[in-house]
Amino acid sequence: VVGYYNGQYVNPSEAAIAIDERGHEFGDGIYEVIRVYGGQPFLLEWHIERLQNSLNAIRITSPYDANGYRELIQNLLEKSGETEASIYLQITRGSAVRNHLFPAAEITPNVSAVVRPVPDKGEQTPGKLLMQPDERWANVYIKTLNLLPNIIAKQAAHDAGADEALLVRDGKMIESASSNLWFVRDGELITAPTDRYILPGITRRFVLELANELGIPVREEKLSVTELSSIDAIFITGTLSEIFAIDTVLSHPDLPVSTPLQDVAPHPIVVTPDTCKTEW
Ligand code: PMP
Repeated sequence: VVGYYNGQYVNPSEAAIAIDERGHEFGDGIYEVIRVYGGQPFLLEWHIERLQNSLNAIRITSPYDANGYRELIQNLLEKSGETEASIYLQITRGSAVRNHLFPAAEITPNVSAVVRPVPDKGEQTPGKLLMQPDERWANVYIKTLNLLPNIIAKQAAHDAGADEALLVRDGKMIESASSNLWFVRDGELITAPTDRYILPGITRRFVLELANELGIPVREEKLSVTELSSIDAIFITGTLSEIFAIDTVLSHPDLPVSTPLQDVAPHPIVVTPDTCKTEW
């Protein structure tokens, strides 16, 4: 494992950051997670593009141009010697005496990174989602450090024996706590459009491209919770979760699934609050 902070290689579990650090105090920063396969950062250009979009959205001047990011990542990878790895890259507004207002322009962003080996997952069996109200803010498209609602939703899913949360906003199934959400219905792929309420996943973009190459029809639309019964299959996508099949959706008492459960297709299975009440 290799850690990096503002030009130095550091131990990622040892202190390197000032208390007056805006990422630390306010979550005032953004991040990316990049997967490395066979020594090659996968879809790196799209990650760099999204990183720059996130920085622009919260008005942090990018400390590097695209080439600077490529070099930084290459150096981190060489230093780590890893070939199957994840790279966590974080940029914050900088360190300054705590004040909500942006610090003076001479403050420079703090750049940190961690490279970790990714173990082989082996063969995976399909997983479960737990519906959770989407309590995140209205600018989810920015990959900010503020992940508290995601963390709480994912923990609730874990506590209920599920692998991920299925976040529901205004009755619509949006995405998961750290992955995008896909449905298959009548041979068509369906996923939420990239508006401000989803994170525009790099893996999502890759799957869209694959579907296009393969001639698989795709509809970018938010499905209602009540449409679950018409779904043939579900999967989620993410840089580290890759493409992960789902065969069960556990519902939530505040998010009623109105369809008669006996009509639900064998995949996915919807479990009502009644049947899984004891688990949460
Ligand atoms: N949605 C959310 C909320 C996420 O945190 C992530 C993972 N960063 C994703 C979707 C998937 O995005 P990506 O494919 O770029 O990892």
